[in-house]
Amino acid sequence: MSKAAPPAVSATGGPSPAGLGRRGTELHIEDVSKSYRQKDGTLLALAPVSIDVRAGEFLCIVGPSGCGKSTLLSIIAGLEPASGGMVVANGRAVDGPSPERILLFQEAALFPWLDVCGNVEFGLRERGISRKERARTAQRYIDLVHLSGFEGSYVHQLSGGMKQRAAIARALAIDPALLLMDEPFGALDALTRDRLHEELESVWAATGKTVVFVTHNVREAVALGDRVLVFSPRPGHIIGEFTIDLPRSRSLQDHRLADRAAEILEVLTSAG
Ligand code: ADP
Repeated sequence: MSKAAPPAVSATGGPSPAGLGRRGTELHIEDVSKSYRQKDGTLLALAPVSIDVRAGEFLCIVGPSGCGKSTLLSIIAGLEPASGGMVVANGRAVDGPSPERILLFQEAALFPWLDVCGNVEFGLRERGISRKERARTAQRYIDLVHLSGFEGSYVHQLSGGMKQRAAIARALAIDPALLLMDEPFGALDALTRDRLHEELESVWAATGKTVVFVTHNVREAVALGDRVLVFSPRPGHIIGEFTIDLPRSRSLQDHRLADRAAEILEVLTSAG
């Protein structure tokens, strides 16, 4: 059966608060589901989910392992097709990958043969941007993620946190409208993770990008999100929605944050 035309979603496109590229996109996810064919039948990974994300919103998704969080991010990124439903980003139905929507993983996928500057410039080079402009743009984002002084370092010379900073700078340099983050800090120690929370928050505030951030760490979700969606065990569907209106920047030591996290955890565990 053919689907109705995508709803009209206004393209945002305006400049970010600090003049660092464009603001984020609105995202409309309508009845998106995913099943995988297996030897002995079909596995429903993701039940139909519908989510509207505001331009510039920081949306966190928490859920148990295997509930379809990564699958949903891949579908939003256009890396795999949905089995049902559709995703509309900036007014256009998503039908494949685009530099408008960048997916960041737990393991920062940097090119080991390039230094930090080369990695951050990579997407700009692909676009045929002049060397001078590339260098200027790369430096702006390297400074933004606090990697100044490490422009000439290679992947093996960087800590886990620095690799993630470089990956974020590389993503931002190509000015996506949407950052999709799949447990990006899951492999880092607690101290580095806390610092990166603060840094990501200030990068987000400066750029006004839309962020969809997947984690199984409820406190992390409350520390970062404007809103937290709770997914059920597979097949994942939304079982809770929490608006987090605590002032920023948020401290993990704040008892209000702990209280919100406890509420969310209760929904999460009651479904498991
Ligand atoms: P999460 O990110 O929440 O841990 P995933 O989206 O990675 O969950 O996976 C959801 C379910 O779909 C899991 O049961 C997983 O094994 C299955 N799955 C994911 N990708 C594939 C694939 N390419 N082929 C078959 N099954 C898959």
